[in-house]
Amino acid sequence: MTKKVAIIGAGLAGLSAGIYLQKSGIETEIFELAPWAGGVCTSWERQGYRFDGCIHWMVGTKPGTDFYELYREVGALAADTVIYDAESIKQEINGITYEIPLRMPQFREYLHSLSAADTQRIDRFCDDVDAMVNSKMPAKNPANLSELLKMMRESKGFIKVMPKYIKMKVADFVEPFQSQVIKRIILSLMPAKFSMSALMMMLGTRMSGNAGYPLGGSQEVMHRIETNYRELGGKIHFNSKVDKIVIEAGKVTGIQTKGEFFPADFVIAAGDAHDALTNLLGDRYVHPQLNEMLKSAPLFSSLALISFGLNQQFGIPFSTSYEIPEGLEVAPEKITHGFSLRSFDFDPSAAPAGCSSVMVSLSAPLEYWNELRTRDMVEYKKQKQVLADRVADAIEKRIPGFKKAIQVTDVATPATYVHLVNLYQGSFEGFLPTPKTLTTTFRKTIPGLQNLVMCGQWLTAGGGICSAIQSGKEAAELSLRMLK
Ligand SMILES: Cc1cc2nc3c(=O)[nH]c(=O)nc-3n(C[C@H](O)[C@H](O)[C@H](O)COP(=O)(O)OP(=O)(O)OC[C@H]3O[C@@H](n4cnc5c(N)ncnc54)[C@H](O)[C@@H]3O)c2cc1C
Repeated sequence: MTKKVAIIGAGLAGLSAGIYLQKSGIETEIFELAPWAGGVCTSWERQGYRFDGCIHWMVGTKPGTDFYELYREVGALAADTVIYDAESIKQEINGITYEIPLRMPQFREYLHSLSAADTQRIDRFCDDVDAMVNSKMPAKNPANLSELLKMMRESKGFIKVMPKYIKMKVADFVEPFQSQVIKRIILSLMPAKFSMSALMMMLGTRMSGNAGYPLGGSQEVMHRIETNYRELGGKIHFNSKVDKIVIEAGKVTGIQTKGEFFPADFVIAAGDAHDALTNLLGDRYVHPQLNEMLKSAPLFSSLALISFGLNQQFGIPFSTSYEIPEGLEVAPEKITHGFSLRSFDFDPSAAPAGCSSVMVSLSAPLEYWNELRTRDMVEYKKQKQVLADRVADAIEKRIPGFKKAIQVTDVATPATYVHLVNLYQGSFEGFLPTPKTLTTTFRKTIPGLQNLVMCGQWLTAGGGICSAIQSGKEAAELSLRMLK
C-alpha cells in the first residue's frame, strides 16, 4: 500500500519535501494555516503594484551551480527565468552616499580608493573574496569518493576560505581597519555579531552572479513550486492550522487540525520550530539543539515592511541604506539606526508602466504591534498609517516629490508575520548566523520519537531560500529511508 506523509506548512521547506516525496511515489498532503502557499517567501499585490516581502538576494541563481540545479528540480526557477544582478548598493555614511561595487576588481579598487593605510588588509580580504567568487558553493555532502574529489576541485576557494572566517565575528574582522568608512561599509554589508563567513558567502555569491533576483520575485518562485507540487499529485489544505502531532507509544501516527485527526505513516514538521516543539508536541520531547538555541541564541529581529506604489519612477536603485540622525519614530520608540529602501524598477512586472513599487524595511518591536493588533484593530490600522507617513516624510527629505507620487501604501508589521504565518518572535529568518549557531549541526529528528522529521529555516542558522529548499529535500530523503 502507498505510504502517506503529512507535511506541516506550505513554505519553501514543506513544498520542497512534498515534491521530492511525490517524485518517489509517496502520497503527501500539506496542512497550511494561511490561505496561500509560500510562508514568509511571499509577495502581495495592491492596485497593480507588487511588493516583494522576501527576495533581496537568492543564493544559487547561476546556472551550473548546485543550488541552481536544486531550484530547477523543485521549480523555483524556470529555464527562462531572467535574473537581475545589481552591480552595486548604496550606503549613506555621515551624510555621504557611498556606492559600493558588487563586482571584482571594482570592489577592491573602491576600498583602496578609500584608505591607503589599509592596503595590505584590503588585499588579503579581497583575495579571499576572489577565491570565493571563483569557487563553487557546495549544496550537499558528497555521496562517494568521486563526488568528494569533484567537490574539492570545484569548491577549492570555498573550502579554503570558510573555515578561516566561520568562528570570527564581523565586529572583530573590521576592528583593525584604520579607515572608519571601510569599517562602516563592511558593517553595513553584514551586522557586527554575524560570523564573517556569512559576509564572505554573500560577497562571493553576489560577485560571481550567483545571488540575484529572479524577475517576478517571490510570487513567481512560489507559483512555480506550488504548481510543480500539485502536478506531481500533492494536495494542500489551506486555512488548516495543525494543533497537534498525534503520538502513540513513541510513534507519530498523524496530525490534528481543526479538531480532526488525519492519519499518516510519517509527519514532516516544516512550519515553525518553536510551535512544533511547544504546541504541537506539548513540550514533551527535547530536541538537543533547538530547545537550547530557542532559549539562548540571538534571532533575526522582527520587521516592519512599509511599501509604496508611486505614480512615477525616481531612479531609486535596487538597495540604499539611509541614516536617520534625526530619528524615526517606530512606535513605541525612536530609532536612529537607519532604514533601507529598495525599489523594484528593474522588474517591469512589479508596477504599472512608468510607475514604481518601493519598500522600506525597519526593525520594529513585536510586543507593541502584537498587543495593539489584539487589543484594538482600528487603532492598529491607524498606527500603521502613522508609521507609513513618518517613513514617507523621512524619504521626502532625501527624494523630493516622493510623497506627492504615492498612490498606494501598505504596511506589514511584526504582528502580520505572527498572525499570518505563525512565526516565532516574528523573526524573519530564524537564528542569526553567528559563529556559535553556524557551527551547530541541527538534528532533523527528535530523540525518543519515531516517524517525525523536522525541516525549514530553523534547522539551518541564517535561514534563507536555498537552506529552506535544501532542508526540505533532505527531510524527504530521510523520511524515505525511515519509511523503508
Ligand atoms: C522580509 C524578508 C526578507 C527575506 N529576504 C531573503 C533573501 O533575500 N534571501 C533569502 O534567501 N531569504 C530571505 N528571506 C528568508 C526566507 O524567505 C526564509 O528563510 C524561507 O522562506 C523560510 O522557509 P520555510 O519553509 O523554512 O519557513 P516558512 O516560510 O516560515 O514556512 C513555514 C510555513 O508553515 C506554516 N505553519 C506554521 N505553523 C503552522 C501550523 N501549526 N500549522 C500549519 N501550518 C503552519 C506557515 O504558515 C508557513 O507557511 C527573507 C524573509 C523575509 C521575511
